[in-house]
Amino acid sequence: MSEILERLRDRLGDRVSVEREDRVEHSHDYWALTALRSSLGQPPPEVAAVVRPADTSEVSWVLAQCNSTGTPVIPYGLGSGVCGAIVGRPDAVVLSLEGLTGLRHLDEHNATARFGAGTRGSDAEAAVATDGFTLGHQPQSIGVSTVGGWVATRASGQFSTAYGNIENLITDIEVVLADGRVLRTDTVPRSATGPDLRQLFLGSEGTLGVVTEVGFSLIRRPESTAGQAFHFPDMDSGLTAIRTVLQAGWTPPVARLYDSRESLHHFPENCPEDRCALLWVHEGPEARVEVEIDAVSRLCLEHGAESMEPTTVDHWFEHRNRVSPWESFFERGIVLDTIEVGCSWDRAPELYHEAVRACSQVEGVLSVSAHSSHSYRSGTALYFTFLARPGDSSMMEQSYLDCWAAVMGAVSAVGGVISHHHGIGRVRRGYLVEQLGEVGVGLLRSVKSVLDPRGILNPGALIPDD
Ligand SMILES: Cc1cc2nc3c(=O)[nH]c(=O)nc-3n(C[C@H](O)[C@H](O)[C@H](O)COP(=O)(O)OP(=O)(O)OC[C@H]3O[C@@H](n4cnc5c(N)ncnc54)[C@H](O)[C@@H]3O)c2cc1C
Repeated sequence: MSEILERLRDRLGDRVSVEREDRVEHSHDYWALTALRSSLGQPPPEVAAVVRPADTSEVSWVLAQCNSTGTPVIPYGLGSGVCGAIVGRPDAVVLSLEGLTGLRHLDEHNATARFGAGTRGSDAEAAVATDGFTLGHQPQSIGVSTVGGWVATRASGQFSTAYGNIENLITDIEVVLADGRVLRTDTVPRSATGPDLRQLFLGSEGTLGVVTEVGFSLIRRPESTAGQAFHFPDMDSGLTAIRTVLQAGWTPPVARLYDSRESLHHFPENCPEDRCALLWVHEGPEARVEVEIDAVSRLCLEHGAESMEPTTVDHWFEHRNRVSPWESFFERGIVLDTIEVGCSWDRAPELYHEAVRACSQVEGVLSVSAHSSHSYRSGTALYFTFLARPGDSSMMEQSYLDCWAAVMGAVSAVGGVISHHHGIGRVRRGYLVEQLGEVGVGLLRSVKSVLDPRGILNPGALIPDD
């Protein structure tokens, strides 16, 4: 280890940090289980160093050095991933993208912009907002995640129902491969030049390459934004309403349906007990927004809804990115997490009920709830939250794992996908073979062995061991 660190320090100087605090901070992401273990006195191992290249050529050089010595490299955006894709190990270095930030290029005519991969999401959004654009990507973590991290995790924003997810919003990417070679894809709206190489890196969680630049296809800030809200007698009727609206061709960017437990928690002032709140946000040219509001309202009322105060949507806008830290729950003996999954419309009601039922059976569970967070013409994403307080702290980890197993089991039983947007990391790695099949995971391993034959890139994340 000391040999590679010396080599890296020769060129990067104090941008190779071995400060303990720095190493500890970069040896984890925002995975609840790592936080729980740390709170119980079992923090993850620390990486050997944090390396901060300043540009693509330095990333390329660092990777070539690490590849030649077989040194594991963990790419790091802002560590907001929630699946344990980042867990320290003493033989690894973290490659921080914080030196590769900022707007590189904004082309108003073509409505495109390119950023260094380490750019914080909120900074990227602010940089294009001054020219009247939006990225159209609004994850809850926009202030604590990077544009490169969005690509590496196949992220999804709150406005995805109209604008799409990260894979629909980017034009091109620049990626450095494990041996230091640099791949740049073309800045074109679409191509038919064989398989789309960008897809190899979307969701690769740092295991196939390091994203160094991300180009976006921008959206003009809408002329009009308006919200409306309804409450339904149950999840099933609310889901039917969303499906009907989207299949009729309406394109509201936000459609969020909360079960009665979450409705009461988030909107106690506006949503009656035992009802499910459905929030819509409409955006675009004013004339279209007006027509869409009327049509969506009519469809909701036809499906058993009653109107709610439109201020419910203002309340959501104000509070949508607030999250309590894990530790505030752990200190009360409570374990919790969120699990987002996806499925087709015909399975959505059953998946919702089955996951809530199965997870509620886990010993010590206090509550299981969900909302539909992102929807499509053919299906939706369900975002579950569980809280459990087992008898004593030694049972907290088991309780956590049992809750996960219950929800993953429900997906397997009903049919769907084990992650809609948070990714695999370590928390879902054990469930990936069942999801992709032996052929699918075998293909993933083959791709890994070609792109990263020495296995230096983020070992232990995403791809299950052979
Ligand atoms: C409060 C909160 C809210 C969240 N809300 C959302 C949400 O609405 N939607 C959503 O999709 N996710 C959400 N997340 C999850 C998380 O923010 C996303 O996964 C995000 O995309 C991670 O970005 P990051 O820069 O922090 O990446 P990190 O956590 O640093 O890294 C995530 C993974 O990507 C790899 N990686 C990071 N940067 C690069 C790079 N440049 N090249 C190659 N690999 C890289 C890492 O090795 C790791 O495997 C939320 C998380 C939190 C804590």
